[in-house]
Amino acid sequence: MSNNKDSQIRTIVVTVDTEEEGLWGAGGYPVRNCTTENLRGLERFQSLCEKYLVPPTYLIDAPVLDDPIAIHELKSWMRMGVCEIGTHCHPWCNPPIVSETASNRESYMCNLPEELQFAKLQWLTQRIAEVFGKSPTSYRAGRYGFDRTTVGPLVKLGYKIDSSVLPAFDYRNSQGPDFRRLTRYPSRVSDLRGQSELMEVPITTGFTRPRFYAFRQRLRGLLDTPFGRATKLASISNRLGLTNHLKLSPEGTTLAELKGLVHSSLKDGVEHLVLMLHSTSLMPGYSPYAKDPQGVESLYQRLEGTLEYATKSQQCIGSTLSDLTKRIDPSAVQKIET
Ligand SMILES: [Zn+2]
Repeated sequence: MSNNKDSQIRTIVVTVDTEEEGLWGAGGYPVRNCTTENLRGLERFQSLCEKYLVPPTYLIDAPVLDDPIAIHELKSWMRMGVCEIGTHCHPWCNPPIVSETASNRESYMCNLPEELQFAKLQWLTQRIAEVFGKSPTSYRAGRYGFDRTTVGPLVKLGYKIDSSVLPAFDYRNSQGPDFRRLTRYPSRVSDLRGQSELMEVPITTGFTRPRFYAFRQRLRGLLDTPFGRATKLASISNRLGLTNHLKLSPEGTTLAELKGLVHSSLKDGVEHLVLMLHSTSLMPGYSPYAKDPQGVESLYQRLEGTLEYATKSQQCIGSTLSDLTKRIDPSAVQKIET
């Protein structure tokens, strides 16, 4: 937990997984000929963030670098200091390509050999540095495919902060990472050899009511026992809303849930909120969360309602991911070594 309670500095970071079109899993993992029409939605989004003085962090992946319009826009916003450019890796379409097809397992970067993770990240980092004139220092894995095996390659390439973790979520069913025990507060995460470390500021997850998070984590320990499974604990926790574990994202949530999550997180001492969404949700027809123009409008209403609530009612200051490394004292946060 943060030890910074006296300072009362609260921040909100808005992060965008900025990427090509595609429905990962259902449509496979396209390796080549990716399209990026959805990026025409960035301009409106940028204006909304500027209205609330929140500089978004665009975490961009390899196909975005082939979109000259997006590059032109992102570069000009970066130069004006109203956004940050970070890195987002979809390993299936990120050179070096070692296979023309990717399995579910291989779609998670953290399942690849460390040398291949490094090669892919090195390619992307160098290309972003060439195009933008500045090396990225913020990272999010595609499909949240992050664990300690990625820390070494990231640190070697100059990264300072990761925001791939969804605390308490579990992707083992699809051969992805298990975040059940990871903290929702900022932490330091070390590589497997314990030689280097990165700041981890996870995507904000939780419930609409304060203190529910800790209660649910305790109950979860019980639910995983034969006693828990044999009793009615599961249906009771369902009725209490303890299974409605939310992610701070306008995708698949209601505005009331988002405001509740902001409120409960701040009450529980989570001072650095991280909101996330996909660029594909900003244009109709490219995301299950915004299937048509009306879907995009309602996503914008949830987004604006959340920004208004966080910045005006709850006095959160807009920050980029990399700026958090200046705001958070590494010696005051927990070190994750398991
Ligand atoms: Zn992605």
